[in-house]
Amino acid sequence: MAVPSPTYEERLKAYEGRAAAVAGVGKDPVNEPMIRHWCEAMGDTNPAYAGPDAMAPPTMLQVWTMGGLSGHTGRSEAYDELFALLDGAGYTSVVATDCEQEYLRPLRPGDEITFDAMIESVSGRKTTKLGTGHFVTTRMDVRAGEELAGTHRFRILKYAPAQSKQRKRTEQPGPKDRSNPKSRRPRPVINRDNAGFWEGVARHQLLIQRCSGCEALRFPWLPGCNACGCLEWDTVEASGDGTVYSYVVMHHPPFPAFDPPYAVGLVELSEGVRMVSNVVGVPYDKVRIGMPVRLEFQRYDEELELPVFRPGGTGEGGGG
Ligand code: ZN
Repeated sequence: MAVPSPTYEERLKAYEGRAAAVAGVGKDPVNEPMIRHWCEAMGDTNPAYAGPDAMAPPTMLQVWTMGGLSGHTGRSEAYDELFALLDGAGYTSVVATDCEQEYLRPLRPGDEITFDAMIESVSGRKTTKLGTGHFVTTRMDVRAGEELAGTHRFRILKYAPAQSKQRKRTEQPGPKDRSNPKSRRPRPVINRDNAGFWEGVARHQLLIQRCSGCEALRFPWLPGCNACGCLEWDTVEASGDGTVYSYVVMHHPPFPAFDPPYAVGLVELSEGVRMVSNVVGVPYDKVRIGMPVRLEFQRYDEELELPVFRPGGTGEGGGG
């Protein structure tokens, strides 16, 4: 008698209890400078986190296990296999849903951290507003020396996105695109609140929302007016003239499809609203605050066109 082959859900369930990361070692021992930076970032002035008897804020638990940009070795094959199994069934998107932490012992400067992570559970098939897929819960045990200091549970949903109008209209990225991430910039997230903006872009119009109650212009698009709360609006088309209000030059981290260094401008349109966009047609180190720029639409691939700004236009002055 033939043994029935496992169902898809049984194959997923078989990953429960398998290692997601083994024998991880914290890159730094628990230390005062990282505690201080955390407390400053959080605005946490609790005296327990300073001074000679300082302890680390319990919520820093995961911080001590993080690999930084260079990452950790020791990620298990099981985790990659599970992801491949989910990807293969079309559950190619991922969203973090929640995390839970449990604290068993305070961490103090000097504690050396080790950790292990296991795939704790893989849920049955669930349908959410985002789409249908499986929740994967990973449990990380964090130790100081041999002692369990806390656990960190992290849950994600691996899912097939609910079909949207835009996805149906366009080709799904094939394996070729995935193996060459440089070929595709990230897609904008288009929703009911900003669809009109992207419809304008498709017609080579940069549309600014105008409140029907108080006539305040707003950008980026929002469902209601910040000034008066009115939910009614129409649009005005930007003239396309603007100036660089501020900018940054991106070096790190490098993202697929982007070639750093490049300039990201905060452009003040002549209508008064500001938008974040690329400043093109000028070396990244020649972008200046006050530089007059002119709108154009740049095509990045067969389906993606974005508003960008190029020096020039009718602005006054020479851009400092
Ligand atoms: Zn208003």
